[in-house]
Amino acid sequence: MSNLTYVRVAVPFALRTTYSYSIDTDQPILAGQRVRVNFRQRDITAIITEVDTTETLDKSKIKPILEVLDTTPVFSQDLLQLALWAANYYHHPLGEVLFSALPAQLREGKSLPTHTYWELTVEGKGLPEGALKRAKKQNRVLQHLLKHHQLGELDLSQLDIQKATLKAMQDKGLIKRKEKPLSAEQASSADTIFHQSPLPLNPEQQKAVEQIRYHQFGCYLLHGITGSGKTEVYLHIIARALQAGKQALVLIPEIGLSPQTFARFERRFNTHICELHSNISESKRTQNWILAKNGQAKIIIGTRLASLTPIPNLGVIIIDEEHDRSYKQQDSFRYSARDISIYRANKANIPIVLGSATPSLESYANAIHQRYQHLTLTERAGDAIPPAIHIQDLKGKKITAGLTDETLQKVQQTLDSRQQALIFVNRRGYAPALICHTCGWCAQCRHCDTKMTVHRQPAHLRCHHCDRQNTIPKHCPNCKNHNFVTAGFGTEQLELELQQMFSGIEVIRIDRDTTKTRTGMIEKLSAAHTDQPCIFVGTQMLAKGHHLPNLNLVVIVDADHGLLSPDFRGLEQAGQLITQVAGRAGREATQGEVIIQTHKPEHPMLELLLHRGYSAFAKELLQQREQGQLPPYWFLTSIKAESKRAANAVECLKVAKEILLAIQHHAANTSPIEIQLIGPAPAAIEKVNERYRYILHFKTRDRKVMHVGISYLIQQMEHHPITKRCKWVIDVDSVQD
Ligand code: ADP
Ligand code: ZN
Ligand code: ZN
Repeated sequence: MSNLTYVRVAVPFALRTTYSYSIDTDQPILAGQRVRVNFRQRDITAIITEVDTTETLDKSKIKPILEVLDTTPVFSQDLLQLALWAANYYHHPLGEVLFSALPAQLREGKSLPTHTYWELTVEGKGLPEGALKRAKKQNRVLQHLLKHHQLGELDLSQLDIQKATLKAMQDKGLIKRKEKPLSAEQASSADTIFHQSPLPLNPEQQKAVEQIRYHQFGCYLLHGITGSGKTEVYLHIIARALQAGKQALVLIPEIGLSPQTFARFERRFNTHICELHSNISESKRTQNWILAKNGQAKIIIGTRLASLTPIPNLGVIIIDEEHDRSYKQQDSFRYSARDISIYRANKANIPIVLGSATPSLESYANAIHQRYQHLTLTERAGDAIPPAIHIQDLKGKKITAGLTDETLQKVQQTLDSRQQALIFVNRRGYAPALICHTCGWCAQCRHCDTKMTVHRQPAHLRCHHCDRQNTIPKHCPNCKNHNFVTAGFGTEQLELELQQMFSGIEVIRIDRDTTKTRTGMIEKLSAAHTDQPCIFVGTQMLAKGHHLPNLNLVVIVDADHGLLSPDFRGLEQAGQLITQVAGRAGREATQGEVIIQTHKPEHPMLELLLHRGYSAFAKELLQQREQGQLPPYWFLTSIKAESKRAANAVECLKVAKEILLAIQHHAANTSPIEIQLIGPAPAAIEKVNERYRYILHFKTRDRKVMHVGISYLIQQMEHHPITKRCKWVIDVDSVQD
């Protein structure tokens, strides 16, 4: 008897539909399994999204599946539902959503990796006692195997054994290497979940932990000033989940933070913790993904890409630094990991905690309107006191290494008292422009609408948008003179000049160029934990949750950029950055000091921030947003077009605008739909990498209208001739132009 089943599969391309295939098997076929199919003359990996579909198509035209790749689905039914929701919400093709959630090895159709373990051979078992006394590590392996019979890969780091030791024993015929499916391996059952007992909480922390209702959905905004002990609160919440036998998902922002956070969790918990981000090898990522899926990894720490990890026994989700923009992906599938996680927590009926010293206006508004529970930590944990903040008016002042004489004096005083200073400048490289002093020529990227940044170590010009590099020209291409000057300054210049000014003092630069490796940041920050005076020069990488115990002075070299930004989100970000950077100062018992250099000391929002704090600042911004009909009160979707010819991008968005205007007219005779269409306007940087980029903003007060409008737009645009000449994308809840 034939067991012919029809299924629909999603393919890894930007196609907004699923495809029918058939399969004749007596094995169970499940949604979420990977299969190999022939699609448009190519054999590819695809994912089953529906089983047992009743086909209306001509059955003779439906091709058979070539191979089923998984016995158990890589996507559980819950996760498949979540991906479906995300694809709908962000109006992104389902296939791309599903494939982006998988580690590369699984995307390519490789089978799930196996678990390697070692056992004693007959010879190994027969070793006389004390035979390996002289080879300590080998002896440790032997003792482990005599007791537990198997040694798994996960035991290696705990026993401090390297593969070389095992190889040596294998060569001697004492042990043999074996493999089994990863899912068969059992996690070592520990007696206690703690390595290190948790700190006793202060009353505010205690209250926060107690307000969280476990085993039911709730979204909590943990709003605590820097150093107030948010991480300690997370650790307590996670401990509760672990004690109930559950897993925890912790999301952290993209750069720098992971190794430090990871280490803190490992010190605390005696359980499997795994990390998922782009800074680990593909095979490690696959392995960790599987450990999460099998329920063996109890704590999963990752960046936004971990938000769709299969976690069968999820008990709580934590989003650290929830305001961070790296949670929103800026290309391809433009999702917000925070917002997907909130939906996920809701469906799983578990709590989710969003932590920040400077909540996003979205989350803050939700807390004010009681859609989220607002948990606050207003005091620094332990003995630390908040820093004193001073404004330095830059107008008319002499500036050396980006700093006024008064600021330089403060740096000197800090070093004299054997403490550390941080100079924050939000630009890497030596200087943002190279200019000919004779004729005014300026080094421009040939492929983008930007200036080339000057770098010194090694000397070259680099475009920070397309990453192309050039040598520094010998002569001005315009007037042939050799008379170059640089304009402005970046981290590299400050580093060099401060080194000259404060000889004998270590100047440590922390930016994307000096911390490329995974441990780069940790190495760079090791000086922070000594009692040596030193100067850190860093970009916003340093604004994030690093603990710098001896840091006493923080200087924000130039606050103007953010305060005067034309983007409506500029002030929010400036306020967050200033508050976060300032929060680095004086984290232990002595009071720290913060200097903000600006040409606009009288800026009312800066005054509000400094005198009344981030909450008052955020409330004022929310009022402005409401009046301006902006997010979070209105929904903003950006339609972004790019093309080698600016005219194509503009035309494409004009077509889109017409289509969206039509929905307004269409519904006008029932009840008027309030929508706003702004643009097409050039993106913040109009040309990047030879392509012109334009944006159309689509705003509505009603989320449903937004979705209906975008669905209609996609349907109308998909076969429109303009889309052959221009690439266009939808960015729902966009955070960047
Ligand atoms: P945040 O995440 O809010 O910046 P952390 O959790 O990193 O704050 O805490 C800041 C510092 O205060 C850390 O050194 C931490 O060990 C310490 N700390 C946190 N909670 C307590 C507590 N209840 N008692 C004593 N020290 C604490
Ligand atoms: Zn010139
Ligand atoms: Zn460029």
